Amino acid sequence: MTSFNPDLFDLAVAEISVKSEPSSGSFELFILECNDLFTELTTVKAHKDIDVAEFAFGRRRNKYLAELYKFQTEKIRGEMVLRYKPMRKYLLTKILPLETGTLQLVCFNFTSFQRRLNSYSLQEIGYVQYIENLHGLAFQRLLKPDRKEVFTAGAYEEITGYTREQAKDFKSWLEIIHPEDKTRIEEAAFLLYNEPSHKSEQEYRIIRKDGKIRWIHSYDCNFTSEDGNMQMAQGLMVDVTKQKLMELKLIEANAKILEQNERLEEMSMTDHMTGLSNRRAMQQVLEYLIDNYKRTGEVFSILMIDLDNFKQVNDKYGHDAGDAVICEVSRLLKKNLRKIDYKSRWGGEEFLVSLPRVDGEEALKIGKKLLQAVRETVIEHHKIDIHVTFSMGVTTYNRKISFQTLLKEADRALYKAKETGRNKIIQWN
Ligand code: GH3
Ligand code: MG
Ligand code: MG
Repeated sequence: MTSFNPDLFDLAVAEISVKSEPSSGSFELFILECNDLFTELTTVKAHKDIDVAEFAFGRRRNKYLAELYKFQTEKIRGEMVLRYKPMRKYLLTKILPLETGTLQLVCFNFTSFQRRLNSYSLQEIGYVQYIENLHGLAFQRLLKPDRKEVFTAGAYEEITGYTREQAKDFKSWLEIIHPEDKTRIEEAAFLLYNEPSHKSEQEYRIIRKDGKIRWIHSYDCNFTSEDGNMQMAQGLMVDVTKQKLMELKLIEANAKILEQNERLEEMSMTDHMTGLSNRRAMQQVLEYLIDNYKRTGEVFSILMIDLDNFKQVNDKYGHDAGDAVICEVSRLLKKNLRKIDYKSRWGGEEFLVSLPRVDGEEALKIGKKLLQAVRETVIEHHKIDIHVTFSMGVTTYNRKISFQTLLKEADRALYKAKETGRNKIIQWN
């Protein structure tokens, strides 16, 4: 063996001296020689002091340094794990004291192995306690270089009602997932194990041993180490039943409010006394019909109706009788018109009707029919027979005019019917 070249074996080599100041317990490191790999792994160059604070970081730093010093002074061989903070590398180091009173270090970089080890030892560092306090569970599956699973039962017993021993692995967890959520979660688990950099959050139910349902929120990720040598899937499952039930209650409450709003909306579109639509609803319908005409050219007509001398009806028979008359006329409108004809109580004793796809001529016929029907009706109220008539203005929307113009036309026609003797129909022309 003539020329041993450490570089060929990926070994980092250095020759160092350690000085100690026993009174203060401080150490000084000095690099005499080192190869490129040593510099690459530690950033330390030859003939330079090493920043001791960055060497062997952690609580045990001084212990390491004291040990190194001991190897040098007592000339004993040794082995230790060196860690140099800036690069976060783990170096398994053989230490050989030289005749010159210095140490030769031969280091093997086993960072990726150590990281794996660290991840396995999560159990030891209070991780389980942490998961338990979170009211959750965790699992970790090493996918590369080999497969290994760690299932942290955490608060398993409390959440599921099964004993901790029954929670062997993630599979036993999958088994208690609610049937309706199972496929989705199995699909998510497949992605988690097979798709690098996969990250997802899921919400699902599990069924406890006692049959009760618990809500779980899970956070999953699949990550690969920087050097690409290690791939790992991790998942954290947290019991969020309390929050979920609150959320569901809120959703239910919102649905009720919406329903209530719809009912209110309906109510606010309806005239309480007659059950006909009110003015607001009618306005919307007219806007729609106008818009529809502009798009399709479909004409429509409107009938504006006002009961004749109604004040006298009230005066003669009382307000209640007046109300009964208004209701009876409403009933007649419903009875004598098509379903698609929109009938509204426009005001006190006024009604407005829209007749979709009805031209002027047809509107006049319909108006006459109504006039006849009301004329012929005897309204009985507390054994008193009441007769009423109405006047009507008719107009047809068959050219582009404004909403206001349309109403003005019907109103003017109605006014003319009143002016010329009531109990009649006048058509706008
Ligand atoms: P005209 O033929 O010119 O329309 O005469 P009129 O008496 O019907 O007209 P006017 O506008 O002077 O009076 C309408 C009356 O309708 C006055 C009001 O007390 C009555 N009225 C309005 N709404 C109601 C209601 O809901 N119930 C009752 N009973 N009367 C109402
Ligand atoms: Mg009136
Ligand atoms: Mg009137």
